[in-house]
Amino acid sequence: MPVSSNGHSGEASESRDTLIMGAGPGGLCSAYVLTKAGVKATVVERAPFVGGLARTIKRDTEYGEFKFDIGGHRWFTKNDRLNELFKEVIAEELLWVNRISRIYFDGKYVDYPLKISNALKAVGPVTSAKAMADYGRTRVQKKIRPTEVESMEDAYVDQFGPTLYKLFFKNYSEKVWGLPCDQMSGDWVTQRSKGMSIVTAVKDAVVPSKGAVVSLIDEFMYPKYGFGRLSERMTDKITEAGNEVRLGAGVTKVHREGTRVTGVTVETEKGEERLEATNYISSIPLTVLAKIMDPPAPADVLAAADSLTFRNIITVNVMLKRKQVTPDTWLYVHDKRILFGRFHEPKNWSPYMVPGDEFTSLVIEYFCSFGDHIWEMTEEELVENAVDHLVNDLKFIDRSEVIGGFTIRAPRAYPSYVMGYEAPLNKIKAFIDSFENLQIIGRYGTFRYNNTDHSIETGLLAAENILGERHDLDQVNADKEYHEIKQVRKSAPAAGS
Ligand SMILES: Cc1cc2nc3c(=O)[nH]c(=O)nc-3n(C[C@H](O)[C@H](O)[C@H](O)COP(=O)(O)OP(=O)(O)OC[C@H]3O[C@@H](n4cnc5c(N)ncnc54)[C@H](O)[C@@H]3O)c2cc1C
Repeated sequence: MPVSSNGHSGEASESRDTLIMGAGPGGLCSAYVLTKAGVKATVVERAPFVGGLARTIKRDTEYGEFKFDIGGHRWFTKNDRLNELFKEVIAEELLWVNRISRIYFDGKYVDYPLKISNALKAVGPVTSAKAMADYGRTRVQKKIRPTEVESMEDAYVDQFGPTLYKLFFKNYSEKVWGLPCDQMSGDWVTQRSKGMSIVTAVKDAVVPSKGAVVSLIDEFMYPKYGFGRLSERMTDKITEAGNEVRLGAGVTKVHREGTRVTGVTVETEKGEERLEATNYISSIPLTVLAKIMDPPAPADVLAAADSLTFRNIITVNVMLKRKQVTPDTWLYVHDKRILFGRFHEPKNWSPYMVPGDEFTSLVIEYFCSFGDHIWEMTEEELVENAVDHLVNDLKFIDRSEVIGGFTIRAPRAYPSYVMGYEAPLNKIKAFIDSFENLQIIGRYGTFRYNNTDHSIETGLLAAENILGERHDLDQVNADKEYHEIKQVRKSAPAAGS
């Protein structure tokens, strides 16, 4: 009898052997847990490397090796069990990193996530007064005539008022999603900044909560040779114990019969091969999974898969002969004239990301869609664009300090919560749920804006379902509390200590 989501019965099966599609952190975590339990697990991965979006790229230069994540990946979760798992895997390579994230706003720096007092100071007394007044007006209007929060714009205005929304959220969100905020669903905001309204900020400043402290996460864990070590180290443990992670093996068909998946076809250098197992876990894009079913999924499921969209990211990786550019973990650049949205400096995360203390580097994030003007730019044009903005517009670096640059393209990096996305998503999920031996996990695997911790959690719970437990994977990352806040008892260590 299947549990409500992701369809695995959890009943002891004669054979527990499992085929896992995708070797990102989610899929590898499933294999890691099954391997530790002595169960046969095979991971098939289309790329020639593990780690998916959370991999680390190495670049050899005449000065030595630079390392780059695809956009900095920090480890943070409120789930102690996942923290223990992370520490177990990373072991002696674990570092604690102080977090400084800021928005570069009109030549000034504003803390991110937004600290209200700091934001109001940056905009000056007149705009601050306007921001507070129109926030008050919004609250009163809401009381008189309550309206549903539907769009991303509604959600931001609800929490911060129209002025702060326009100053600090509108431009950046439109850079990330490529659509006006009134066309995006408010779901993303409620997950990301719940509890971060003007009211809570003022309340916390006036009457600090008793017994528990609400703290922003200002320290996080990171593997000293890059976030990709999480996937690489799990792979080592999986293969050392005799299970397999097959690279260069892309799934092209998922065979089905009645309520069961009966096998997958993978394409390798040597041609096509059919692989079979008792259980299947998929972390490959949900829309792809729906489209490669054999026999094909019903027409309405295929149409639903066609209607879901995503955003791509291109990172421009710039190597510099300079000690440091900024002290930030991330720096957000809202200015619409600057084509990129955010950058980070890997050396601020770990000194091992650069070949020596006289060097640093930047990973600069360009959000885009297939076929748009950014996606169509060549590597050379993108590197030049990034350097030009950094030298001439932001004045962060000198051109003579640049010793090289290259790009990484990551398609389908962000599931897009465009207004109305829920209906097609639920249609696909209901179809997938009808298979008793198939579970979906991860980020694009479930079409949920999951960070690595959530992706890992779904992988862990899917594996435990195969081991006989009963978890509903749909509950992962379903809470509406802001991810960046951790409730900590005063007597307990603060987040990340
Ligand atoms: C810019 C950026 C910054 C981020 N920052 C953070 C952060 O700071 N902290 C954090 O926790 N998370 C962060 N994330 C999110 C994190 O990258 C994801 O949550 C995580 O990588 C998802 O893991 P996954 O295993 O679900 O998917 P993925 O990492 O996407 O892995 C899926 C794998 O499936 C493979 N695949 C696809 N199709 C097929 C096929 N047909 N057959 C076989 N294999 C296939 C892919 O090649 C890939 O390796 C960030 C993401 C981005 C884009």
